[in-house]
Amino acid sequence: MKFATKAIHAGQEPDPSTGAVMTPIYQTSTYWQKSPGDNKGYEYSRGTNPTRKALEDCMAALENARYGLAFSSGMGATDAVMKLLNPGDQVITGNDLYGGSYRIFTKIFSKYGIKFHFLDMSDPESIIPYINEKTRLIWIETPTNPTMQVVDIEAVARIAKKHDLILTVDNTFASPYLQNPIDLGADIVMHSVTKYIGGHSDVVMGALLLNNEQLYKDLWFIYNACGATPGPQDAFLVLRGIKTLHLRMRAHCENGERVARYLKTHPKVDKIYWPGFEDHPGHEIAKKQMRGFGGMISITLKDADLQETFRVASGFKVFTLAESLGGVESLINHPVSMTHGSIPKAEREKAGVTDNLLRLSVGVEDIEDLLADLEQALA
Ligand SMILES: *Cc1c(COP(=O)(O)O)cnc(C)c1O
Repeated sequence: MKFATKAIHAGQEPDPSTGAVMTPIYQTSTYWQKSPGDNKGYEYSRGTNPTRKALEDCMAALENARYGLAFSSGMGATDAVMKLLNPGDQVITGNDLYGGSYRIFTKIFSKYGIKFHFLDMSDPESIIPYINEKTRLIWIETPTNPTMQVVDIEAVARIAKKHDLILTVDNTFASPYLQNPIDLGADIVMHSVTKYIGGHSDVVMGALLLNNEQLYKDLWFIYNACGATPGPQDAFLVLRGIKTLHLRMRAHCENGERVARYLKTHPKVDKIYWPGFEDHPGHEIAKKQMRGFGGMISITLKDADLQETFRVASGFKVFTLAESLGGVESLINHPVSMTHGSIPKAEREKAGVTDNLLRLSVGVEDIEDLLADLEQALA
């Protein structure tokens, strides 16, 4: 089946007990057993729930994966992957990560004896000198947040395979509509479902999608043992949102391109980061591994200090000043004071996350209204 058909049907059979076409919200924590251990495959909703299972199967299908696990947030999913590791193990990751990923790596897992190397991943060969007998996992994000660097997933996957490392790709920014890392050799795809997959800024959820059976068993054990699993109402909302993922992504890409081209020549804009531009350093790789360039755009404002940047960020009428991304509504974000506040100044400036940087999540409103809003806010 093709993407749009899977988004609407995968994992979702008419309900066996009533014929309901839409997957019901199974609002139950526990399940009847005929005699001890004799049940219908469901025992307790921390481990398994039919509404969540339908969503997991649908998300797995969209990433061309066999297995899906939903978590109560993207960070819950990341936490589960890191718990595959043991004290002394080492991880190689990017230097332009989602702030929460950086925070959980440095503030939580470092404490348990796991060592992280933060590298510029734009040249995959630069990973090789950091691989040693303790290295277990590579964690990448592409396009990166917020400076939209593109990492060559296939090239990193080749290195991971050769050295028997688990490659995990945070695919949140691209969504499964634009990029499928498993097809390019990744072992685990992680999503903040909160963003494009949910798509309506009304749910916080995460997911892991993968093919390897042993890895799935290990992750399911952590999922059930640690218990960061989402409830059935949230699973239902995401099942509803995911049915239009392909339609929304097309509109995000279309509006994203119009906004990017408008801002590129705007006199108040200094740098612009969007992988669809031919002069973007990752453009060729993006063209190779993505089916579109998405609606995430970052800009720096010309000659703007923190105060001037705040003034511009607060002057929008259609774009909403808020954290997060990937919803139908357009959002504007100031990474330094909002999403990336937990990254030390020196670290983030190395990655280009400066005081005058703004990140746009271009939504699916009418493009004329979005362009007019940008015009008045930048004036
Ligand atoms: C939001 C986000 C996360 C964290 O997901 P939550 O659902 O907020 O826990 C991880 N990675 C990226 C790229 C994100 O944008």
